Amino acid sequence: MANGDAHHIEVLNPATLSVVEQVPTQSAADLDAALRTASTAREEWLRVPQRSVYLEAVSELIAAETESIAQVLTAEQGKPLTQARLEVGVAARAFAYYAGQRLAPEVLHDDERRRVERHFHPLGVAGLITAWNFPVALLAWKAAPALLAGNAVIIKPAPTTPLSALRLQGLLDKVFPQGLVQTLVGGNDLGEAIVTHPGIGKISFTGSTQTGRAIMAGSAPYLKRLTLELGGNDPAVLLPDADLAAAVSGIAAVAFRNAGQVCIAPKRVYVPRDLHDEVVDRFVDHLRGQRVGDGADEQTTIGPVQNAAQATRLTRLRESVAADGGLLHAGASGPGDLPGYFVQPAVVTGLDESAELVREEQFGPLLPVLAYDDVDAVVRSANRTEFGLGASVWSRDLDAAVAVADRLDAGTRWVNQHGPAELDIPFGGVKQSGLGSELGREGLLAFTESRITNIKKQSDRTTP
Ligand code: NAD
Repeated sequence: MANGDAHHIEVLNPATLSVVEQVPTQSAADLDAALRTASTAREEWLRVPQRSVYLEAVSELIAAETESIAQVLTAEQGKPLTQARLEVGVAARAFAYYAGQRLAPEVLHDDERRRVERHFHPLGVAGLITAWNFPVALLAWKAAPALLAGNAVIIKPAPTTPLSALRLQGLLDKVFPQGLVQTLVGGNDLGEAIVTHPGIGKISFTGSTQTGRAIMAGSAPYLKRLTLELGGNDPAVLLPDADLAAAVSGIAAVAFRNAGQVCIAPKRVYVPRDLHDEVVDRFVDHLRGQRVGDGADEQTTIGPVQNAAQATRLTRLRESVAADGGLLHAGASGPGDLPGYFVQPAVVTGLDESAELVREEQFGPLLPVLAYDDVDAVVRSANRTEFGLGASVWSRDLDAAVAVADRLDAGTRWVNQHGPAELDIPFGGVKQSGLGSELGREGLLAFTESRITNIKKQSDRTTP
């Protein structure tokens, strides 16, 4: 949980543990007031002839403020500035992408007897609850489609990373009717208040599977519409003819990005037994080129993990490696005497399927590499998890890779790449990695309800 008192959150810099800023928090009573303003603003918003123009303006404002938002993001979240700038770019592009989408009614049927139309209505006020790993991008992925569809939004950022969201709120205020978008800062209890408030018709949530279950239960009395983007334990499977250099650099780029705190990062790597040692050597070589440190230092490639709970969890998982018979192979330099939440990135060998680091979602820079003997067995191993977010298969033979990918239980199966999520492609998990999709047209429709208008034409007087 975040530091502070009952009315404030103290936002810490995870690299230095210094206080970046104290932020006032909001209560359930503030939520009531916010909802009143949101309903009035929404009426005005629904009268706006071209909502896309507003989204375009936001996209431009965010792009123009890339550097200042990235600085705040790095200070509160820990990621290297280069990654923070990219994340702000993703947010700007998300608003531009949704500005280009349209929600015109679809004609499902039209002949001399009948015309059937499908209309897309907004859901009212949407509650957007985000995690701390991509506070800027996640907010934009949710807010842009919600607003284009005609909803008002209440945003609740994670309590350890509210500053970048507040920064975005300042930009959104310059464009949208007052009260249409409101960011409320608070802990998990404020999230619960949003989930259980009858005035909110839709919850779009990114975070842990455990919280996803609580949100589903909390919103059940109102049958709220839900989009849940939850945890993952993505396998990456190298086939015997994989291009090892490309596979290792492609996997490592995502597995250690944002200090491994990426929902769709490869979290288990399966390698043919005779290639195992060579692949591990290549990962260690990759790590030797990395520098752990304060994200604000332009030389840093891997920052601290984001918060104290993460650091504690990863320390426990690190200790579990030896207990489970595994070995850690590090290689990166840094972070010197910085006091922050640093976890030395490592590839891990010698574990089997029963090891904690293999079974659990590590959400940190510890990557197990496991040897396999046959493809059927590796498919079974890859699917032996409650999660089903992403998976990748690496091979020079695309048909062979696609055949294996097709057997993997995951919302996205990549071939010769692992991530990223793309704005125009629906993104979501199967099994307990989520419900529904974000991004693409589906991400827009998720903020609407479909209403059918079924018209019997005057000329058709004979049909009963
Ligand atoms: P979390 O579930 O604890 O918190 C996420 C957000 O939910 C925060 O804003 C928090 O305050 C709020 N929250 C917590 N309890 C709540 C409740 N009962 N009701 C309403 N809101 C509540 O998650 P976390 O630990 O901050 O994030 C890490 C997890 O998120 C990892 O498991 C990771 O895989 C997952 N994640 C998934 C995706 C994805 O797109 N699938 C993306 C990022 C993170």
